[in-house]
Amino acid sequence: MAIARGYAATDASKPLAPFTFERREPRDDDVVIDIKYCGVCHSDIHQARDEWGNSTFPMVPGHEIVGIVRAVGSQVTRFKIGDRVGVGCFVDSCTTCAKRDLDLEQYLPGLVVTYNGVEAHGTPTQGGYSDHIVVKEGYVLSIPENLPLDAAAPLLCAGITLYSPLRHWKAGPGKKVAIVGLGGLGHMGVKLAHAMGAEVTVLSQTLSKKEDGLKLGADHYYATKDPETFTKLAGSFDLIICTVAAEIDWNAYLNLLKVDGDLVLVGIPENPVPVHAFSLVPARRSISGSMIGSIKETQEMLDFCGEHGIVSEIETIRMEQINEAYERVVRSDVRYRFVIDMESIKA
Ligand code: NAP
Ligand code: ZN
Repeated sequence: MAIARGYAATDASKPLAPFTFERREPRDDDVVIDIKYCGVCHSDIHQARDEWGNSTFPMVPGHEIVGIVRAVGSQVTRFKIGDRVGVGCFVDSCTTCAKRDLDLEQYLPGLVVTYNGVEAHGTPTQGGYSDHIVVKEGYVLSIPENLPLDAAAPLLCAGITLYSPLRHWKAGPGKKVAIVGLGGLGHMGVKLAHAMGAEVTVLSQTLSKKEDGLKLGADHYYATKDPETFTKLAGSFDLIICTVAAEIDWNAYLNLLKVDGDLVLVGIPENPVPVHAFSLVPARRSISGSMIGSIKETQEMLDFCGEHGIVSEIETIRMEQINEAYERVVRSDVRYRFVIDMESIKA
């Protein structure tokens, strides 16, 4: 067992604080990773504050992990000491019921999430707000050489969470795609959809980030606080991906879809989503959800980002700034992802 240094939430109402804990002794198929950077996802905040009602404490959040391989078990074949690697939202999946060849393991029972989860042996998982992590080889990703490690960290959750639905719903040339919310997930959605060749519209609360949105690759930018947006854009989009975790007028957004259009939720609001049948039926529209992506698809996304030079727009923070960063994310005051420099925890 090695002692890890990290930051944990010890209770839903307390700020995160320094925390030491044990990482498991590496097994034959394990990779030991020195964590260099970890992105701050809004899901970290939801869980640290028990907003989804499924939190266990103490909790070391963090599932946008990048680092350097420190050691490998005797059966590891794909990684060696010194490799640049990443770990995303899960670190294991069921090997008996889950058919990994479906490459949909994120939707199958037995998924072991990177933190706030439980491993097969009953040990709670702890995430990337820490100096190192021990992960089975099959759940470790390669970071393309041309991508800076710090700005690549958010690809491990924000990147794949947008890449997967964009691919599944076939974003590309001739498709009109809207991204709702220009935050951590949303800004990756704009970059990825643009690189896939779609015509991209940002639907943000205000026009305050319009210049950024257009630079990121959006073709159009509208404020959802302006009621005219909803009349002007009625029936416009093939696909709308909503990254918002708040209560919004879902029926108004559904009305922006063409016939056969899809509204895909990736943001996870606390309350149920009220939808009127008239928002769906007269135009054969659908409302769906999507969660991260498989390991295979995550590697495909990383390679796509390597080819297109896509990384996240980040603001790097020290570990002790995490509570302030959480407050800023909640206020939508982030451009566009906080990334923790893990050197700050070792100092
Ligand atoms: P984020 O950086 O806080 O971005 C969310 C964006 O939503 C904000 O930047 C803001 O954009 C918009 N927004 C915030 N409050 C709003 C309100 N009251 N009304 C309308 N729009 C509002 O968060 P994130 O890290 O991107 O995560 C977003 C959500 O996705 C969270 O619920 C998270 O848990 C979830 N998530 C899901 C998955 C998955 O697999 N499905 C993966 C990761 C995260 P504007 O300022 O542009 O309006
Ligand atoms: Zn996340």
